[in-house]
Amino acid sequence: MHRLHAPHNQPSGDESPAEAVATTRRALIGTAAGLGAAALVAPGVVLHTLSAQAETAPITNKSRWGLLIETDKCAEGCRACIEACDHEHGLDRQVPEGSPSKWEQQKAVWIRKVKLQDNQTGRITQLPLMCQHCEHPPCVDVCPTGASFKRADGIVMVDRHLCIGCRYCMMACPYKARSFIHHNTTGQLTAVPRGKGCVESCNLCVHRRDYGQDSTACADACAATGHHAILFGDLKDPESPIRRRMREIQNRQIREDLGLNTGVRYAGI
Ligand code: SF4
Ligand code: SF4
Repeated sequence: MHRLHAPHNQPSGDESPAEAVATTRRALIGTAAGLGAAALVAPGVVLHTLSAQAETAPITNKSRWGLLIETDKCAEGCRACIEACDHEHGLDRQVPEGSPSKWEQQKAVWIRKVKLQDNQTGRITQLPLMCQHCEHPPCVDVCPTGASFKRADGIVMVDRHLCIGCRYCMMACPYKARSFIHHNTTGQLTAVPRGKGCVESCNLCVHRRDYGQDSTACADACAATGHHAILFGDLKDPESPIRRRMREIQNRQIREDLGLNTGVRYAGI
């Protein structure tokens, strides 16, 4: 028997943001129409609903999503988390514009490796750095349009429809975690609408959250290399693996003096 599965996060070609949203809406309407039963569309062919269906319950503050990064497990030269994030969000589908050096300076970066050096001992620590998903995000405070916002479950992100590209949030972010899209967007994915002139950053793989998956692309990729330096989970659940690990090992926030109560914690710094 043939089964047709509705696609999730499929490439949509060179769609404009409006087209990407329309595509997503069509996909969601298609999903809703298929809920509850598999439809027989032709003899021997059953149209099934999404294998990973969108969560329909409202987002609440019962969970707070975050990451624990164990820097001593992060391998020098490894870029698996960066490549996985780029692939997950279609950043690696972007066609470079302008000179190679200009492209390198201006391309969107959601996660990067940062080297820290202890001035006294010379010890070098390298860590992946992304949006820290602050409980009190400075980017949200300064955004004049409400585009920069924090969800009830702690994820800080940008509403592309409201962003006017003023870049106040980029200046306010102490972690330099946000990027401005300078170029025409190409090769977009339906789950990750992007648009020239908007700001974007790590969203803790929010589409995975909303389809009930319990990981992020960077954590999965790091685990696949065998390093297991990134752990994703619910910071509010005392029994979650991330909370258990945070009880076991010392960890801290970057720039904890700012009192932002970040959702991303680091061990070994
Ligand atoms: S660039 Fe966009 S998200 Fe950032 S402060 Fe301006 S309007 Fe808000
Ligand atoms: S959590 Fe998702 S969006 Fe954030 S850095 Fe990791 S892969 Fe990228």
